[in-house]
Amino acid sequence: MSEDSTSTGGNETVSMGIAGTEPAERRGRRILQILLENDVLLGEAEVTVAEEFHREWRDRMAALRGRTLSAEIEETYPGVDAERTEYRGTPYYALEERTGGVEADRMVSHVLAVADVASVRTLEDTGVPSETARLAARSLRQFLSSCPVCANELVTMNESCCGGHGPRGPTKVLACQHCKVPIYVFEE
Ligand SMILES: [Zn+2]
Repeated sequence: MSEDSTSTGGNETVSMGIAGTEPAERRGRRILQILLENDVLLGEAEVTVAEEFHREWRDRMAALRGRTLSAEIEETYPGVDAERTEYRGTPYYALEERTGGVEADRMVSHVLAVADVASVRTLEDTGVPSETARLAARSLRQFLSSCPVCANELVTMNESCCGGHGPRGPTKVLACQHCKVPIYVFEE
């Protein structure tokens, strides 16, 4: 783990999808700070999402869930091409880099696309810079209590139920059992 990555310059990566590199702990703290400053998150020891933000976020997810989001993804993540596809009956988007310097997962489920596009846009509305909003979207998923698409309650479980083991065995994830997709991977 490198110790010299405190730069907030233009070299940030898109952190969309479930299998990408985890954001560094330091970056996580920086994003947390910005979200607290913008009243997106509240609290100290126990952090929660502000009710007003949560309401707007939920409304946005509800507006997006029934649509194909290729254009919205491309608009939200400049430099990424998104094409709708399917895997075992579950809608996904295949993502591809259009330019260098953008790191994107190859596939992102429709459920996560709904959550992340809604996060970024709602964050931008509250004054969070777009670049930070894109980085924060993944962290915000842990505050979801219901599925962005089917609205069923999310459960904490082992990843083996819906998508294979990590190198060190099952990983604890927040998932929608109905959509069979992991929403958030908890760090060990
Ligand atoms: Zn669901």
